[in-house]
Amino acid sequence: MTKLPDLGPPIPGKLHGGDLIREDDHFYNCPSCGQRVDQRDLRQVFYHETPGHEPLELEENVKVIPFRRPSK
Ligand SMILES: [Zn+2]
Repeated sequence: MTKLPDLGPPIPGKLHGGDLIREDDHFYNCPSCGQRVDQRDLRQVFYHETPGHEPLELEENVKVIPFRRPSK
């Protein structure tokens, strides 16, 4: 599965017209894989334009292993 960071640094997209819109309006469901796509990040938009792609593994899904503080 392709991970979002594999596509390089974020490519911020600009909203034509510059009007503020609701947070949900930045997303659409990809007609191919069904994943929600954030239109503000053109990496995601371009990726989901690729024919036959699989859903992206998003950065939010990266598991962070917490370090335990040494006990004194
Ligand atoms: Zn897709």
